[in-house]
Amino acid sequence: METEYSEGKSLIIASNRLPITIKRNENGDKQIEPGSGGLVTAMAPVLRNRGGTWIGWTGDVDTDSFEINHLLQSQSRELGYLLKAVHLSSEERDGYYRGFANEVLWPLFHDFVSTCIFDPDYWEHYDSVNEKFAKVIAANARGDSFIWIHDYHLMRVATKLRELGVRNKIGYFLHIPFPPPDIFVRLPWRFQIINSLLDYDLLGFQTNRDKRNFIRCVRTYVKNIRIRGRRQIAEGQIGDHKLRIGAFPISIDYNEFARMAASEEVSRKAWYIHEDYPEKQIILGVDRLDYTKGIPERLQAFRNALIRYPELRGKITLMQIVVPSRKQIPSYSDLKTEIEVLVSNINGEFTDSGWIPIVYIYQSFPRDELTAYYRTSEIALITPLKDGMNLVAKEYCACNIERTGALILSEFTGASAQLYKGAIMVNPHDVVGIADAIHQVFHMNKEERMSRMKVLRRSVRTYDIFRWVDSFMEAVIAKKLDNFPVIEDFNPVDNVTT
Ligand code: UDP
Repeated sequence: METEYSEGKSLIIASNRLPITIKRNENGDKQIEPGSGGLVTAMAPVLRNRGGTWIGWTGDVDTDSFEINHLLQSQSRELGYLLKAVHLSSEERDGYYRGFANEVLWPLFHDFVSTCIFDPDYWEHYDSVNEKFAKVIAANARGDSFIWIHDYHLMRVATKLRELGVRNKIGYFLHIPFPPPDIFVRLPWRFQIINSLLDYDLLGFQTNRDKRNFIRCVRTYVKNIRIRGRRQIAEGQIGDHKLRIGAFPISIDYNEFARMAASEEVSRKAWYIHEDYPEKQIILGVDRLDYTKGIPERLQAFRNALIRYPELRGKITLMQIVVPSRKQIPSYSDLKTEIEVLVSNINGEFTDSGWIPIVYIYQSFPRDELTAYYRTSEIALITPLKDGMNLVAKEYCACNIERTGALILSEFTGASAQLYKGAIMVNPHDVVGIADAIHQVFHMNKEERMSRMKVLRRSVRTYDIFRWVDSFMEAVIAKKLDNFPVIEDFNPVDNVTT
């Protein structure tokens, strides 16, 4: 899709983190490594084509030094677009990032209300850091720049930009779910947040359900707004300000994952991984350490499967990769302990000669290594309690080049909206249901697996990360909104066969 914006208007992206990491080399000198996630891959060519700018925090505190700014400049030259840092102090990091983003918005928007810490200091820092971002954006914007703000860390930025007199078009994409009104209402700063979101020109959500939740919150808590709730992209008006609201499910670089999975190196790695588990089916779990991912429930479900279906013993191995995350937050280290105790109990209970039921890996793998795990695993078990999208599910499908793998997927992931036709859908709270799904997939014949995987791969291939970027940018300026696809939701009743 060719868009006005892809034809030369400058683009400013702002996200919490710049797409880089600052590391120290063996001499102790700081150096910068470029990021490699899906968003960076998709945005890099667009930014490069029009000399765009990416604005974000460096991930470290007190980085406003000659050394770091110089490193960012030389990295910008290499990347072909500008990197501009928002420098934070340790107080700002603690209040805005660790506090408001990770202990208020993250749990609340994932329906974990009781985990929220509604500390007013966090809000003060969130507000002032959003203003800090807005100042850096305003200093770098040209008259024709389209400004695209990402995620829950930066919901107030449009309001701050408008206060600074910036009149450019501003889009916003929320990577996590948006809660329904009865959850959102608990937020002490609900009016400030919802009104700030209405200052954008385009609001993008992962799923139709998130979009609908947002519109319901607006209708409940905002007066004098008109919203025409179209099936594709809704249109709202408040005073003179018009905005659009749509669902744009984020995706992956399908071709790149499929290519990597087929490479000789990954094929060899995949073979070596499976060599240690002869004549066993590997069930793969890959998650950041996070209470939203449903890891303890999944382990309980696996145990339930081993108890109720003894024929699985010795024939199936759960390989659970847990990526370290948010180590400073106490509830995350408690979760780690809970997982490790469960793994050890289950292994203690069922291990037999030549077979350990769960292989637990607490580390982060580089992309090629992870691709080998995807490629070699017969089953992916992806059961978050709530997840904005879940890219792991899509990556697993893209890497399943033999098309013999099976996906068990939580109905509370954004990915379920696109993948439910090929996946085995489960309620992640239902340990018996997940155990039944494991049993069902273990015995599923090759023909059914292949036809399901064909559906899954087609879906991920058709709507990849590049299409996502194009359709978001197109939605800012499109004259006709009827041409945008309707994003359906998975409805659990579709799963009921009796
Ligand atoms: N990932 C990785 N190395 C690992 C495990 C995961 O690079 O060892 C990547 C994975 O490829 C995926 C991302 O981490 O792109 C996880 O994204 P997802 O949407 O599934 O969950 P999130 O962590 O964003 O909640």
